[in-house]
Amino acid sequence: MDDLNRMKRLMLTVTQELIGGCRFCIEISSDPEDRTPIQCVKFSGNSTPISVNAATCITCKEFKKTERLQQAKLSD
Ligand code: SF4
Repeated sequence: MDDLNRMKRLMLTVTQELIGGCRFCIEISSDPEDRTPIQCVKFSGNSTPISVNAATCITCKEFKKTERLQQAKLSD
């Protein structure tokens, strides 16, 4: 059971590192049991976030665009 908890914590850390910089991501839960830990405003159409999981972000790929924008700003 400890291995499972460690794996869940690791997955949450990876999610935070990968998705945390997305310009549409408002917050990421610190609860490793949360199945939809990411609060995203891209698909809600307003400032109220909806909860999504990491698979949604991997499909969406918006976090990659944000990363590229940040790198372009740094090189200016
Ligand atoms: S679903 Fe897309 S826009 Fe929303 S936080 Fe994930 S990568 Fe960003």
